[in-house]
Amino acid sequence: MTDSEPDVVGEDDAQPELCDRCGAVIDDGSELYAVVRDSSVVHAHDPKLDGGRMIVACSREHLRDLQEQYRQRPFVDAELWAGKIYRAMDEHPAGMSEEELVEATGLTPAQIELGVLWQNLGALRWHQRSGQGGDAGTTDE
Ligand SMILES: [Zn+2]
Repeated sequence: MTDSEPDVVGEDDAQPELCDRCGAVIDDGSELYAVVRDSSVVHAHDPKLDGGRMIVACSREHLRDLQEQYRQRPFVDAELWAGKIYRAMDEHPAGMSEEELVEATGLTPAQIELGVLWQNLGALRWHQRSGQGGDAGTTDE
């Protein structure tokens, strides 16, 4: 998560794309793109792109399937806020005051509180899940 390396992906159009639905390799430039709302996505640097996931598909059918999948995924504001908080913290490893956090995330103190709460809940669930060590693989979010 450091930005020391200048090798940005996306500039090189010789890279074939993979369909997010079926994994098919698309190397003839026929891939289709769409952006879907996904509250678990925060962009590395640009807050304007938060909450949007770029999807790639081999056909209109698969693009529709993917859009449908993400439409069914609940968009949780607190999850998005948690991501913004995490990104800000990541950029300021020495720590931040609440005021600085408000400034960096563009969130209100109440939203930050909810975001942190969400993150803690997520960590709790994760620990519970890994603690039980039960049926991984078929996790039904
Ligand atoms: Zn496909």
